[in-house]
Amino acid sequence: MTTADKPMLEGARAYFEQAVGRLGLGDDMRQLLLHPWRELTVAVPVRRDDGSFSVFTGFRVQHNGARGPYKGGVRYHPRADLDHTRALAMLMSWKTALADIPFGGAKGGVVVDPQALSVAELNRLTRRYTSQIGHLIGVNRDIPAPDLGTNAQTMAWMMDAYGATHGYTPGIVTGKPVELGGSAGREAAPGRGAALIAAMAARDLRIDISGATVAIQGFGQVGSWAAKTINEAGARVIAVSDALGAIYNPNGVDVWETDRHYAVNGTVKGAPNAEPITNAELLALDCQILIPAAIEDVIHSGNASKVRARIIVEAANAPVTFEADQILNDRGVVIIPDILANAGGVIVSYFEWAQNIQEFRWDEQRVNQELTGFMTRSYKAVTDMMREQSTNHRTAAYSVAVARVERATKLRGFVTS
Ligand code: GLU
Repeated sequence: MTTADKPMLEGARAYFEQAVGRLGLGDDMRQLLLHPWRELTVAVPVRRDDGSFSVFTGFRVQHNGARGPYKGGVRYHPRADLDHTRALAMLMSWKTALADIPFGGAKGGVVVDPQALSVAELNRLTRRYTSQIGHLIGVNRDIPAPDLGTNAQTMAWMMDAYGATHGYTPGIVTGKPVELGGSAGREAAPGRGAALIAAMAARDLRIDISGATVAIQGFGQVGSWAAKTINEAGARVIAVSDALGAIYNPNGVDVWETDRHYAVNGTVKGAPNAEPITNAELLALDCQILIPAAIEDVIHSGNASKVRARIIVEAANAPVTFEADQILNDRGVVIIPDILANAGGVIVSYFEWAQNIQEFRWDEQRVNQELTGFMTRSYKAVTDMMREQSTNHRTAAYSVAVARVERATKLRGFVTS
């Protein structure tokens, strides 16, 4: 992003203010919903494999819990900080409300480059972080999940660390390995949900998904599953990328072959039947659907005018800055916001938590069917609100979500007047 763009927290608050203006919320409620309910900063000391000692910094921010236990991922990233975590926690409150699942919003993070630590060091770091935030989390309080830099293995360690003092508690985290009570379909869910929403948005714009051209930035868990699912729906994925570079084939990249290549080489670069391009070139490709599925702020005021896609589907959290959002809106580009587009992950997290509490297993077919139902209802709630308010997808999504959180917050009696 450029210096002309608002930092992520300010951008998230600005989107919130737009919705508040339309909903006519009072100032008391506006202030209450802007502020995280609870924030914790912790030290995470880790003995390194070589005998030395490092103290990392960790966070857990609980934004709003009026609709249910706090819910949200834990991110391991060298640029994690408290403001980022606040912004992401707020997005989770709107995401769970829009999906209409019984959770609030939270986010956690540790300032660390997970690639620079051994598996044993990551295991120790995760256990210590879990015990440091241990008094805030609980099956009915706050349920962590994976995010950037963390995965099912991280959740297994968190569950084990929590269980050491509380006994067997699989519902304490979601996104676990299936062998430990994770849900079938959880890993694919964020990407699958984004592909489902892309198809719904394409249909509304009279773009035939079969044969539609798609570029996907990011080939991690979210991007790779978005690529595979949208490809199954008949779309032509013409480019994919990761942090090391991008590949392009105007006739369509073989996403399954690229997936195998990625599993072996840790990058899409060099995958067969595609030419190398840069990440910047990928964002500017002539395609119908662009899916940023990597990290925040990749489409900003400096490159928004170069985007040629008709639809942007935010599979990552906050990949489009507030300023870029205005530029793209003015140009008529349809943006499907993160709180709608990437809700598949937390929706299947909800299924996982519900299965754990009932000590019952659903098969993958049921998970995918239920996911489709939740995504379809959320999409409809947004498009109904768009018509009612004559606005775009993002503002309508925020309006639906903020109104639900506001209602629950009021019913709980948090604001007395
Ligand atoms: N980290 C994911 C997100 O940003 C999933 C959160 C969850 O499943 O709790 O939506």
